[in-house]
Amino acid sequence: MKHTIYSNNDQNNIEITPALRAIIKKAIIATLDYQEIDFPVEVSVTFTDNEKIHKLNKEYRGKDAPTDVLSFPMFENGEIEYDDESDEPCAIGDIVISMEKAMTQAVEYGHSLEREACFLAVHSVLHLLGFDHEISEEDDVYMKESAEEILSGIGLRRDTGIDLAQGKVPSKEQKTMFVSLIGRPNVGKSTLLNAIVGEKVAAVSKKPQTTRNRITGIHTSGSEQYVFVDTPGLHKPKNKLGEFMVNAAESAIPDTDAVVFMVEVSDSIHPQDKEIITKIKKANLPAILVLNKTDICNKGKLLENMAKFSELHDFVSIIPASALNGENIDIIMNELKPFLRNEPWFYPEDMITDQSARTISAEIIREKLLRILDEEIPHGTAVTIEDYEDTDKLIKIRAEIYCEKDAHKKIIIGKNGETLKKAATFAREDIETATGKKVFLDLWVKVKENWRDSELNMARLGFKKDE
Ligand code: GDP
Ligand code: MG
Repeated sequence: MKHTIYSNNDQNNIEITPALRAIIKKAIIATLDYQEIDFPVEVSVTFTDNEKIHKLNKEYRGKDAPTDVLSFPMFENGEIEYDDESDEPCAIGDIVISMEKAMTQAVEYGHSLEREACFLAVHSVLHLLGFDHEISEEDDVYMKESAEEILSGIGLRRDTGIDLAQGKVPSKEQKTMFVSLIGRPNVGKSTLLNAIVGEKVAAVSKKPQTTRNRITGIHTSGSEQYVFVDTPGLHKPKNKLGEFMVNAAESAIPDTDAVVFMVEVSDSIHPQDKEIITKIKKANLPAILVLNKTDICNKGKLLENMAKFSELHDFVSIIPASALNGENIDIIMNELKPFLRNEPWFYPEDMITDQSARTISAEIIREKLLRILDEEIPHGTAVTIEDYEDTDKLIKIRAEIYCEKDAHKKIIIGKNGETLKKAATFAREDIETATGKKVFLDLWVKVKENWRDSELNMARLGFKKDE
């Protein structure tokens, strides 16, 4: 089930690293799954300090003391009313955690801050779901036991503190960082991501805006783990879909340890690139500029571009590269190294993405369509996976392609269904390579007018404001 977790930092004592934020969201989702919540839920979590939580505690609970965590449920006694007709997630309440208190308690108990903050998050989600240790002893025991199980499930056992990735490298020696990959559409972000990760995780196409959802590529080597977030190109919203895409792109910047900003060598600096630079300055994160497609650019222009960009911002470094040929990708990786944190890995060693095979399959199908149809394809096309049956050796997929007009449907299907067949064949081959299994792919084309303007349809097609 796809849940939406918003997190917001309202304190300065403890640094909320991207990894810390991510593990807390993971703990919240694990709790919802543990409770078998089978409808989409929305939870907001705020990180605060002792002074602010003291105020809240006094105001809402009548207790004149700081506390570690407060829950504000939307429903009483866990009687959650979810409207199945609605495609919106059901907001079940807010959680406020004092990170200052969490740190003190972590030191007291002798485990990690991650473990303590996640314990508080799990505990408070159970509150939102109606459990109450203050009025029921049974609930008290249940809450403690299930919290332990949930935390073990995500690799946060009490005894060892954090023990996320049982790889060859002991967790004490592990280093990690989150990197956001930003740039205008079509500059080569997905190509770079695929080159770094070494397998196909992001769709690549000549058409702009192929990447709609964020895709995380993970590169682990030696003791280091790099988690990449591939965002849609930043652009002005034209319709609802546009707004969602900008939202995902913007929120990606502050949530990482460093930025890789990719541009193409061109005659003059694009206004959107200037806007991105403004955002990078605001986020105050170290940024590496990659001038991509050096294999096809004019060398004089390249030097000119390097000079112009260096005037606009104090980049950590400016690297000419070719994502397609793999040129200078090693240098990009080297430049990121200084920003690694001494923190345990967030993902197992052999994982290359946190997108499901299902999502990747939809991305691959969309990519094939964009490629085959080239200039003709109307951009209002989306792919949804309606059925995904994964058995030992065979994966059966039924996917639906949505377009906006009958005329578009005809183009997608092609003469005698040839275009669609071709897309299906290419997509099947790529999904087989990605999954290592035989794939049976069934593609259908449907017309849905103005789907891009309807939030309901967007939710149904898998576009969410926050993952
Ligand atoms: P994104 O929208 O930024 O993710 O861009 P993509 O990775 O989808 O790439 C857009 C297009 O540029 C595709 O046709 C890629 O094959 C092409 N491309 C990406 N990197 C390079 C490069 O280094 N050199 C050349 N010549 N083409 C590239
Ligand atoms: Mg892309």
